[in-house]
Amino acid sequence: MIEDALEFDADKTIVTDVCVVGAGAAGISLTLELAARGVHVLLLESGGREAEERTQRLYEGSVADERMHSPPHRYRQRRFGGSTTIWGGRCVPFDEIDFEQRFYVEHSGWPLQRAELLPFYVRANQLCEAGEFEYRATAAFKRTLRPLIAGFESEHFTTDCLERFSSPTDFGARYARRLQESPYVRVLLHANLTAIRLGIGGTSVQSLLSRTFSQRVITVQASRFVLAMGAIEIARLLLSSRDTHLQGIGNQHDCVGRYYMCHIAGTVGTLIQNRAVDNVWHGYDVSDEGIFCRRRFALTSQTQRRLQLGNFIGRLHHPRITDPAHRSAVLSALQLAKGLISYEYGKRLHGEERLSAARWLGHVRNVIVGAGQVIAFGHHMLRDRFLAARKFPSIIVRSPAGRYSLDFHAEQEPLAASRVTLTEERDEFDTPRVMIDWHYSALDLKTVRESVRLFAQDIERCGIGRFEYDPESIESEMLRYGAYGGHHLGTTRMGSDVRTSVVDLNCRVHGVDNLYVAGGAVFPTSSQANPTLTIVALAVRLAEHLQAAALRERASVLA
Ligand SMILES: Cc1cc2nc3c(=O)[nH]c(=O)nc-3n(C[C@H](O)[C@H](O)[C@H](O)COP(=O)(O)OP(=O)(O)OC[C@H]3O[C@@H](n4cnc5c(N)ncnc54)[C@H](O)[C@@H]3O)c2cc1C
Repeated sequence: MIEDALEFDADKTIVTDVCVVGAGAAGISLTLELAARGVHVLLLESGGREAEERTQRLYEGSVADERMHSPPHRYRQRRFGGSTTIWGGRCVPFDEIDFEQRFYVEHSGWPLQRAELLPFYVRANQLCEAGEFEYRATAAFKRTLRPLIAGFESEHFTTDCLERFSSPTDFGARYARRLQESPYVRVLLHANLTAIRLGIGGTSVQSLLSRTFSQRVITVQASRFVLAMGAIEIARLLLSSRDTHLQGIGNQHDCVGRYYMCHIAGTVGTLIQNRAVDNVWHGYDVSDEGIFCRRRFALTSQTQRRLQLGNFIGRLHHPRITDPAHRSAVLSALQLAKGLISYEYGKRLHGEERLSAARWLGHVRNVIVGAGQVIAFGHHMLRDRFLAARKFPSIIVRSPAGRYSLDFHAEQEPLAASRVTLTEERDEFDTPRVMIDWHYSALDLKTVRESVRLFAQDIERCGIGRFEYDPESIESEMLRYGAYGGHHLGTTRMGSDVRTSVVDLNCRVHGVDNLYVAGGAVFPTSSQANPTLTIVALAVRLAEHLQAAALRERASVLA
């Protein structure tokens, strides 16, 4: 059943088995999996089925440095489906090394191994609609795929790893019917969690308070509560629920909101080939099940360990869009139309700088000369992206000059100083707003610098050509991007040491026996991988844990 709390004509108290807060990828996956196991769930969601300005404003806050991090109401969607209403759908599991304790990555090491997460990854892949759980290109494709760069061989990078693309599945739209029809589920839209109330002693949650814009108060009592509102909002609610513990819930050791990570991303350099231009394949390969897949240059675990680097992947990318010297009519058309592209996606088309008149004219010239290509590209985007059920994932443009840049996506080391805190400012429900102070480390810079250097070295060694880049520009490129988009991680990290973590192996908040967290907030480290597949896998795993807990409880009542 899906209800709208704005229609309630009085305050209410609801009693249930499990209360999940937040209907994004984590909350919806968890709710579906619990319902499939016969557990009654109440799913509280702040937003409605569509984007609403008033609700979205609840996400506003401040950032310590605007170059480093986008404002907190960007890259998050406060509505049914959460940020999956706008995500790109790139699915990638974590690598084995991501779970390991690496002496050169501070605060690394998960309390679980990749093998323990594998069965849940398989289910997560289904929920994300990304096809078979097979991320090795040679195993996923029976046919031989065109090499990414003919002649490229490397002991530092593998090109046998895939990213798979979800539809991209909007979890709200896709699973609304299943939630609506399940006898175990009650979804409440427009219900904003505003406070977590602990019982006497402060070791368990007694109730949650949620409010509506129509001034109704909904009190929820449950055996277990799960916070699934995204890493920034979870920290905000734990820190602002201070009526029992002055420092907030789960925050005895000042960890809530700390170790905040996104990913390190950017686009650098130019690949200049010796030979014919079609030696490069930087586009998608479609699997037999019809899933868009893309291979990448992934830094091997051996190289990471040997050189003491974080995890890193690169993809060949179209040349820098702002400079019309690329001679691509399509890129020039995109540059000229940049104002029409959403904030979240426009930021990725590199170049914030204002165009000089000469460059502007250069772009116009490219568009006129290549008008046919622009029309063909427009047709392809309309048919394969805007009208297709499974959308063509991104803009892939071949470079007429055979020149490509390297798009990278790298792990960010967890740092205690990188954090989400509360400010004096409050939202409409009187909840303090957040301040985000995001930092990266010397290791993050070293990882990118060294990986790009190795890539350039391998290109040259293989006789492909050269990869030109300015080593000094790497940090400014990282700064131009700042914290990567919508990947908000680590604010209630998982661990066994209560002094450096907030939740345990089962995602339960240390010291509070019935409060759990679902989402990227629990990641102790970030990997190079986009987070949603792992968020969903952990949610499925949490469902199994909560069902077992409910069964144990029932058995002890009967005994
Ligand atoms: C532009 C963009 C592109 C992306 N592309 C990718 C990609 O290609 N691959 C990938 O892996 N990830 C990608 N992501 C990240 C991905 O969207 C997130 O990892 C994922 O949505 C996180 O899911 P979640 O359920 O943890 O949080 P969210 O999706 O943020 O859901 C949180 C939910 O909680 C609700 N909520 C918040 N506060 C309250 C409250 N107080 N009370 C009640 N409800 C509340 C919100 O309304 C929302 O529905 C992208 C993100 C963006 C913005």
